[in-house]
Amino acid sequence: MNRLQGKVALVTGAGRGIGRTIADTFAREGATVIATGRSEANGFADGVEYHRLDVSSDADWARVVGEVTGRHGRVDVLANNAGVIAYESLHELTVESWQQVVAINQTGVWLGMREVVPHMQRTGGGSIINVSSIWGSVAVAGAHAYHATKGAVRNMSKSAAITYARENIRVNSLHPGFIRTPLTEAQDPEINEFVIGQTPMGRAGDPQEVANGALFLASDESSFVTGSELVVDGGYLAQ
Ligand code: NAP
Repeated sequence: MNRLQGKVALVTGAGRGIGRTIADTFAREGATVIATGRSEANGFADGVEYHRLDVSSDADWARVVGEVTGRHGRVDVLANNAGVIAYESLHELTVESWQQVVAINQTGVWLGMREVVPHMQRTGGGSIINVSSIWGSVAVAGAHAYHATKGAVRNMSKSAAITYARENIRVNSLHPGFIRTPLTEAQDPEINEFVIGQTPMGRAGDPQEVANGALFLASDESSFVTGSELVVDGGYLAQ
């Protein structure tokens, strides 16, 4: 309890899945949580504020971070969690589909960092957690744009970590393996069986197991951790 006491934390894609669990976990640990998403969402823990924010919209970022810093004066933690997947091979992708995945998974992460970094500089530091994936480090056939963007998130995080290290702004990427969420529940069961079959622990992860990693990175317990990749994958990347 209270591992995030006094901190203001903004979480994207918090309507459901991993983002929802991160928001609830941060609130339980004493943070003032700004949960954000592009659709309506409710049922959050007491004290969680919900704002509409499409991560691909520069204007949305400016509006929401402006409101949050106007009311709370600071943003200490940013969890860039929102993401989409498209199972299309390189030759099947349309320009529209490519641009949509890039806009949300990659541009959205950059826009979020760009918006909060000046506030973290002003208040003396912060922690940014960018949700990548095991598929930001290795690939399977047939999800070209997802791999491209999750790999970009991995290295954008290192670039940001190095740029702002002396200003006490820590930036780390978080790499879930197969996690049971609305995203994976909606996809072809054959894909799910394949990925779980490739997971040494032989099971799906729970969103809470990812949120526990995000909590460590958000808290001062990770005060000397920046530019790192926290993998929560049941052993998938160890192979
Ligand atoms: P999810 O259940 O589909 O939830 C994703 C959330 O992101 C939804 O609330 C969705 O809102 C939101 N979102 C999508 N586009 C958005 C946008 N443009 N602006 C703001 N919010 C947006 O997915 P999840 O499984 O929790 O995944 C969360 C993150 O973990 C993603 O980055 C994903 O790539 C990553 N990840 C997941 C797994 C896994 O196995 N589940 C594994 C590795 C990495 P809407 O309801 O409006 O669509």
